[in-house]
Amino acid sequence: MDLFEYQGKQYFARYDIPVSPGGPADTVDEAVAAANAAGYPVVVKAQVQVGGRGKAGGIKLADNEAEARQHAEAILGMDIKGHVVKRVWVENASDIEEEYYVSFTLDRAEKKHLMMLSREGGVEIEVVAEENPDAIIKLHIDPVDGLSADVARQACIDANLPERAIDGATDIIVKLYRCYTEGDCDLAEINPLILKPTGEVHALDAKVTLDGNAEYRHPEWEAFKGLTEMDEREKMAAEKDLQYIGLDGTVGIIANGAGLAMSTLDVVNQVGGSAANFLDIGGGANADVMAGALEVINFDENVKSIFINIFGGITRGEEVAKGIVEALNRVELKAPIVIRLDGTNAEEGRQILLDAGIPESKLRSEPTMLAAAKTVVGLANA
Ligand code: GDP
Ligand code: MN
Repeated sequence: MDLFEYQGKQYFARYDIPVSPGGPADTVDEAVAAANAAGYPVVVKAQVQVGGRGKAGGIKLADNEAEARQHAEAILGMDIKGHVVKRVWVENASDIEEEYYVSFTLDRAEKKHLMMLSREGGVEIEVVAEENPDAIIKLHIDPVDGLSADVARQACIDANLPERAIDGATDIIVKLYRCYTEGDCDLAEINPLILKPTGEVHALDAKVTLDGNAEYRHPEWEAFKGLTEMDEREKMAAEKDLQYIGLDGTVGIIANGAGLAMSTLDVVNQVGGSAANFLDIGGGANADVMAGALEVINFDENVKSIFINIFGGITRGEEVAKGIVEALNRVELKAPIVIRLDGTNAEEGRQILLDAGIPESKLRSEPTMLAAAKTVVGLANA
């Protein structure tokens, strides 16, 4: 789950990382009230989950109420790279002497956490990586060892931070590591981390991705929900309790079991197609689950054909078939289905599909996974 900047800052605050005081606002009047409460000068910041808001005009300084109003009017409703601004965050403006970059992510290949630190912050890190890669310090952290203040301090020195920023930066880095690990983040990034003329170091921006698998131990994440910009398809799937991940291909995929779903994606790729989603209906899925899954896939405009790949163990073939028949009654599917139905009660399932008299233009059955993949990709690419 990706957080908005202001939510990321709220999360940082739980770990004592210094951020500017401020308030969220959904209307111009609320923004003005938040600015008055914070005290001028303030900065009005568009809350969208996309970088480069500053350059796009989504971040503006205001010295007084009239300016705060004017900026809130301009920014609310603004379109930033396809994201419409529905909320702003208004905070006390900071004086900036220097801008740094720091982040933690997981390096899967190394099986370690990765810290990146740079004196060149405030710009996109990808640009720094391209133009001046030596300006980025990369430090792998063994999760068993953790990150000590000494190691963090040395990284600050290696990154060439000025002497007077080192204490403050070290402190924030250690806290950010705690936020990232104990707070179960996939990403915790501060860009820019600023040095103020007063010598204080401070998080001016926040980019946080929470690890959904850790949700069960974070009841406090509930507060972040609802506002997050979820893919519409994923939102619909979540409401139906489906294990769904939206992708950008054209073949809708339904399989039982995560392993089979992944293999299905692979085989679709192998024969020249691309998956529109990952969808695991799980073991023991009944007709209702299948119908719900088809509804979610049908909602995706990019889907040109649907691959249902079922190897029944606990899942029963006749339930799958009933679900398909039910879905075809409930919704007008925009794309044809190709099904590979095998395993428990597959025969009964195929008979149910036959008896339903579904025309071949809407549903075809194939005996193997590979044959089904070829047919479904042929339909998608036609
Ligand atoms: P992003 O462009 O979406 O990454 O948004 P940021 O929150 O990182 O802000 C972009 C830039 O706006 C920063 O790098 C700063 O240069 C500037 N900025 C943001 N907040 C302040 C502030 O409080 N004071 C000043 N002077 N500049 C700010
Ligand atoms: Mn930023």
